[in-house]
Amino acid sequence: MLKISCTHKTDTMSAANPPAAFCKDGDTVIFETLDCFDSAVSEDGVMDEEGCYLANPVTGPLFVEGAEPGDALEVEILSIKTRGWGAMGTGFGEFAFVNYPGENKYHTFDFSDGFVKIGGHRIPVVPMIGVIGVAPAGEGIPTTTPDNHGSNMDCSRIIEGAKLYLPVQVEGALLAMGDLHALMGDGEVFSYGLETSGEVTVRVRVIKDAGLLQPTLYEGGKVMTVASALTYDEAVRLALESMYELLLKRGWKADEAGLLMSMKCNLVICQIVDPQVTVRAELEEEFFK
Ligand code: CA
Ligand code: ZN
Repeated sequence: MLKISCTHKTDTMSAANPPAAFCKDGDTVIFETLDCFDSAVSEDGVMDEEGCYLANPVTGPLFVEGAEPGDALEVEILSIKTRGWGAMGTGFGEFAFVNYPGENKYHTFDFSDGFVKIGGHRIPVVPMIGVIGVAPAGEGIPTTTPDNHGSNMDCSRIIEGAKLYLPVQVEGALLAMGDLHALMGDGEVFSYGLETSGEVTVRVRVIKDAGLLQPTLYEGGKVMTVASALTYDEAVRLALESMYELLLKRGWKADEAGLLMSMKCNLVICQIVDPQVTVRAELEEEFFK
């Protein structure tokens, strides 16, 4: 099986990145990924200050034969295997809701038994992919910034079993991913997920002329349109517009699509800490059949 080593890393999603590997429509590929600290924080919580590390590196990109602008790339997340520990920072940035009085340090957690231990609690891990995307058309975009090419969406539902649809913007799509989290609540409110590295196995398929406006996720019986923007207002508008267009494409009439969304669609904040915020609209899959 094709495997892309984490030595093929970059901090920019860009059409100019040379492909790390090529695959065919329908192939299964393993991405070996680093954590968001470029795996430079040790299990003791010490940052190796010597190297010149990438912020939020991704592994790739993968060139998918036959993928062209206007298509969607279906990425089925077959498995996410992480290492047995993760790291989080405190005091390294500004937090959304508090003037944090604590010290600047990295906190590490062992979860080799599948549970995070904190405050006397045992919390089961739910590994997810923080950054997954294709290359944008035009200028490259740093992997810290999510947009309609996906990337740093930090969407807690990008887990094993999910199917993510990304709007292809350049030939070959140029899929890349990284920034795994063993656990992260919606919002990523204290700036970090439980950051870890690992191996992600995906199957990729090309959906011709999909005309997707935003990344779209199928997971847990729900369809989710995921959108990122500088403001919550704009991110919400983009997520809802994308959901509405999807319903029209599946044959819903304009008024009924809107009414259904008011009855059943939920808005969820994915993350509030990246250079653009990310929200998603969620609606049960049955309405798309
Ligand atoms: Ca992230
Ligand atoms: Zn992260």
